[in-house]
Amino acid sequence: MKVHIWAENRPLEQARERMAEFYPHGIEGVLADMLRSCTDWTVTTSTSLDEEYGLCETLLQDVDVLVYWSHKYWREIPDTYVDILQNRVLNGMGLVLLHSAHASKIFSRLLGTRTQTLRWRESDDSQRVWVVRPAHPICSGLQKEYFDIPQDETYGEYFEIPQPDELVFLTVSSQGEVLRSGLCYHRGRGKIFYFSSGHETYPVYYQREVQLVIKNAVAWAKCTDTYDTWPVWARKAELLGGI
Ligand code: ZN
Repeated sequence: MKVHIWAENRPLEQARERMAEFYPHGIEGVLADMLRSCTDWTVTTSTSLDEEYGLCETLLQDVDVLVYWSHKYWREIPDTYVDILQNRVLNGMGLVLLHSAHASKIFSRLLGTRTQTLRWRESDDSQRVWVVRPAHPICSGLQKEYFDIPQDETYGEYFEIPQPDELVFLTVSSQGEVLRSGLCYHRGRGKIFYFSSGHETYPVYYQREVQLVIKNAVAWAKCTDTYDTWPVWARKAELLGGI
């Protein structure tokens, strides 16, 4: 199992100090350490500051699941890389989209939405994440019907998304906003999970429940169909983009 974690890693001026305090090795660093400590998966990382925006085709070629955290600079990812990501997902790469990745080009490309379409504010509010599909593998190990995040950016409806194949979490802020916050989709052979919690100026990614959700999501997103067993007619290049 090969997992790659990609993060934008370009905090805005006003967020730089707090991000350095909580995530001195980046959000990708915290998530990679967490996955390495509790699984035997091969975990690699890159950021938008790396060559080819950290998304070169060779790097993604044998990745089973990509974890993707982006924020403000989503416009700068050239469409060529969005094409590569989309192709990989349609051909079976799992994709776990975190937090502001709702604004990314790959999110809108795969889900057919416009970008940046939800309500948001930054005011240190607490968030209650409700489990609305308790039997889903992504909820495995959660002890209660909800968990609280002491401080996070607030996201709320209306969130312009297609109806998810499975809605797993619903988040309520202390001021009353609600958000469909844990969403599963299937596109081609690929499985996609979006999870909204985790702004860069809060230590959300150290929280046990959040880590558990991300670990479970990566495990869930791994493609489980065996292409080799597909009938020949279904394996035709024109149907599957030449896998
Ligand atoms: Zn944010």
